Amino acid sequence: MVELQPPTHGPQPLEQLEVFADGRKCNTCGYIVRTDERIQRHCRLQYGWINPWKRGPKREDRQRAGLALSRPWTESVHCQRFFTHGRRQEYFEVQAPRGSSEAPEQVATKWEQARLQLT
Ligand SMILES: [Zn+2]
Repeated sequence: MVELQPPTHGPQPLEQLEVFADGRKCNTCGYIVRTDERIQRHCRLQYGWINPWKRGPKREDRQRAGLALSRPWTESVHCQRFFTHGRRQEYFEVQAPRGSSEAPEQVATKWEQARLQLT
């Protein structure tokens, strides 16, 4: 069995599904949610992670020191989900949508032009 290796940032987004650009992906298991509260809860419940920012007035200092990067999740992940109801509402990561330059209509037009030149 061949194991498909998706690109680093996930597969192309499916056109039929809405793309969210505000996903937060767990660095450990790839679980994706779209709010800080939920990813924090996930990390806390799954890994016993403790939010080091919860207390203390030095938040800006920590940010300057680069400690923001110590969070166990990745922000601004593009994601989609198949279901909006029921139990399987989990998100999956996709690539950032590309511009309209590669719209299927334009590709079709190119083919049409090529065909007209050949006939
Ligand atoms: Zn996780």
